[in-house]
Amino acid sequence: MTESARVGDRDYWHALAGSVALPNQAVIGGQQVDARSGKRFATINPATGALLTDIAEGDAADIDAAVAAARRSFDAGHWRNQSPLARKQVLLRLAELMRAEQQQLAAMESLDMGKLVRDASGNDIPTAINILQWHAEEIDKVYDEVAPLPPGNIGLIRRVPLGVVGAVVPWNFPLNMAVWKCAPALAAGNSVVLKPAEQSPLTALRFAQLALEAGLPEGVLNVVPGFGETAGQALGRHMDVDCLAFTGSTAVGKMFLRYAGDSNLKQVWLECGGKSPVVVFEDCEDLETAADQVASGIFYNQGQVCSAGSRLIVQNSIRTKFLDLLTARLSQYQPGDPLDPRSGLGAMVEARHAANVMRYVEAGRREATLVAGGNAVQVDGSGSFIEPTIFADVHPDAVIAREEIFGPVLAVLGFSDEDKAIALANDSIYGLGASLWTDNLSRAHRVSEQLVAGVVGVNVVDPINPAVPFGGFRQSGSGRDLSRHAVEKYTALKTTWIRFKN
Ligand code: NAD
Repeated sequence: MTESARVGDRDYWHALAGSVALPNQAVIGGQQVDARSGKRFATINPATGALLTDIAEGDAADIDAAVAAARRSFDAGHWRNQSPLARKQVLLRLAELMRAEQQQLAAMESLDMGKLVRDASGNDIPTAINILQWHAEEIDKVYDEVAPLPPGNIGLIRRVPLGVVGAVVPWNFPLNMAVWKCAPALAAGNSVVLKPAEQSPLTALRFAQLALEAGLPEGVLNVVPGFGETAGQALGRHMDVDCLAFTGSTAVGKMFLRYAGDSNLKQVWLECGGKSPVVVFEDCEDLETAADQVASGIFYNQGQVCSAGSRLIVQNSIRTKFLDLLTARLSQYQPGDPLDPRSGLGAMVEARHAANVMRYVEAGRREATLVAGGNAVQVDGSGSFIEPTIFADVHPDAVIAREEIFGPVLAVLGFSDEDKAIALANDSIYGLGASLWTDNLSRAHRVSEQLVAGVVGVNVVDPINPAVPFGGFRQSGSGRDLSRHAVEKYTALKTTWIRFKN
């Protein structure tokens, strides 16, 4: 069977998912270890409810051990004192090892959080590997600065690694979120303690195993699976962590700021929630492509995307036509077995989250007009699946227009003129992504300048590329992942002033 035939074959994925080895221990100081307490927690396949494996449940004691291992490796200089070229080579080897088992990683990701294996293997996992490779290749091309000082003086301004970086990440793109933090932090020479989300620890643990195989010195990358309240909080409050990079909800992001204030004032970088607007003007010529992208912008990954285009703001004159185009695409997004490449939508990450999304759907039924979907469904008699759902006539004050739902639920609002569109788009506590669709060049510039968002896509929804920064304004967070700027979060500027005799 050819490679493309294999990845299109449900039986291939079921066989692979049934045979892939699932890691279940923490990685601390280069060793695979159980939790100090001996406790374990269940990781469940949300599509079937089946137990995948029991994972070591790290808590404060394990975080202490991991931070101590990271500190030892940093102080010893085993990693940070390697040349940028040598660090690059290790990280490139890691990328190759990941590429060699790309399909296994995709299967693991699908099992762990219900993601479509087609998306994991065709997009998420290759993207994570490319981003790792991008930061690896970047690091031996970063120059420092020399300051313009008076004669007889030289001012060296260098970027130096911070020390021990803590990373706490969510479950929606488990490997990507881990790599987005770890790749620039490691490339810059830091040692890292990563806590993956309790719903999806598998690929992060495999990442740490492969990093050791690639030659990353022991203690440089430690992964402690566990819960937010215990392991996550212990990392946030730790007195020997220099920097905490977080991706997750805005509510928990606020906690990390408090943890830092209550402990050692560690630097905190936050990638939090969003309620991203997609504005479609009547002068957009290619409404077919706009409808394709609006649909994938809210239904990809079951809408569990921080930068999902969850508010469609469409000009009243084309509203009916555009809604027809959009609903015609829903047949591509019907829930099904995540391991079947023909399925259109996977499972929600867990039953509790699915119930939460359905509460928003009930609110939507009360406050807006249901255009499509609106039901929880079972696939093969089990699982937490939700139909792609569209609400129209949504008032700007409606709960479904304001709160992040993190599910396949689109709120459609109408507008009459450009000023009103901008006002609606910016009417949010968030400012992560935004998209606008127009063929008027002046309008594209005028509107994109006024949209409050870290990434504005013109005639594209939610574009992501390692070459451009990703992050938000307002309560979407601070700092930027990806691009050359990511490394700024994991380094400090250090000045050395040299006075010499003329
Ligand atoms: P979450 O905030 O509940 O959890 C994220 C991480 O924080 C997990 O590892 C969790 O264990 C940990 N955590 C939870 N409570 C904690 C506590 N009290 N102390 C310390 N750590 C704690 O978020 P989630 O439900 O896993 O993910 C969904 C959220 O993530 C959404 O809001 C989404 O927008 C956001 N997100 C943002 C981005 C971005 O780049 N801006 C990307 C992906 C997801």
